[in-house]
Amino acid sequence: MESTLRRTWSEINLDALKFNYEKIREKTGKGVKFLGVVKADAYGHGSIAVAKTLEESGADYLAVSSIDEAMELRVNDIKMPILILGHTPKEQVQRLIKYNITQAVTCRAKAVEYSEEAVKIGGTLKVHIKVDTGMSRLGYLCEGNFFDNGVKGICEAINMQGLYAEGIFTHFAVADEEGDENLEYTKHQFKLFTDVCSEVERRVGRRFEIKHCANTGAVARFPETYLDMVRPGLLLYGYGEFAKEMGLKPVMTLKTTVSTIKVYPEGTKISYGGIYVTDKTTRIGVLPYGYADGFLRCLSNKCTLMTSDGPAPIRGKICMDMCMLDITDKPGVEVGSEIEIFGEKNSIDELSKTAGTIPYELTCSVSKRVPREYIKNGEVIGRELMLRM
Ligand SMILES: *Cc1c(COP(=O)(O)O)cnc(C)c1O
Repeated sequence: MESTLRRTWSEINLDALKFNYEKIREKTGKGVKFLGVVKADAYGHGSIAVAKTLEESGADYLAVSSIDEAMELRVNDIKMPILILGHTPKEQVQRLIKYNITQAVTCRAKAVEYSEEAVKIGGTLKVHIKVDTGMSRLGYLCEGNFFDNGVKGICEAINMQGLYAEGIFTHFAVADEEGDENLEYTKHQFKLFTDVCSEVERRVGRRFEIKHCANTGAVARFPETYLDMVRPGLLLYGYGEFAKEMGLKPVMTLKTTVSTIKVYPEGTKISYGGIYVTDKTTRIGVLPYGYADGFLRCLSNKCTLMTSDGPAPIRGKICMDMCMLDITDKPGVEVGSEIEIFGEKNSIDELSKTAGTIPYELTCSVSKRVPREYIKNGEVIGRELMLRM
């Protein structure tokens, strides 16, 4: 840890996280619960620190993608309700019950398996029913001709022994996309979801405690979809257009340092493949940041990183452990100078656009050899390096 610190590292600003959380709750209003999506190690921000911050701030629920992610939180003393959005093998039902973890039920086959296991153990598994309203991923298919069959399947699951259906949810496919067609699609998904909920509630004669569907795009744009609980991920971490519009702050700042500076004459090929050739005397800073740290290689020769003297271009191919930054007109940049890869000064939104991807992929790509520094109340409260040592 000490050895890699101040090489390349990620600063996780838990104050910004709390700020974003409070801003989002202000927008969604009282009476709407808040589920923080912390799957994939909280989009690369560190799920334990993020979960603790959300727990202290008064969030209601967390969501992860697998039982391993849920157990990581439980083992680290997170007491809040946790929903597993993805698949859990039936052999794990005992652990789900023991650790009070809520499981998504996505089809009849899973409902039957989970019910049988729960009955065998003599326990009750808390579940949220997943409805497929147009994402075409997991969930009871309820579109068009499938409506009646879908509703029937959901009612059957609710009445199965050993299962307690606390909630029901669906997921939007294009809530963050511009254009009338997308707007209509989301509206249609929402209407189908509320139709399914009403019909199921009518047939079983009771109401779900928690109906939820609003992801980042819907939280930002469609207040009518909030229902009992909102379920944002990206917005909470402060990236994307909606975060900007709402004045939210980026939680992660990824930084590196200049390890070596070299000055090359005109006509020098830089890095593998020689795709960049200097057109004048060029001052190059070698950065200890490469694709093994999460720097997407497709950004080779394409992007700029932020120095104290402004943006500087990456030259040539990004290597596994290093990359080359052109600091010819940045006299203030010296060996040891900090370079911001993304954060407040170098927008991750721009960087991800240049890479032809989305900010989610960039924060999730920060690799395990990059240490994290957690900041709370303006002070560093913890450091973490996830290597086996
Ligand atoms: C990842 C995920 C979310 C959060 O999505 P964002 O776009 O980050 O807000 C919400 N619900 C489900 C089911 C998800 O898989």
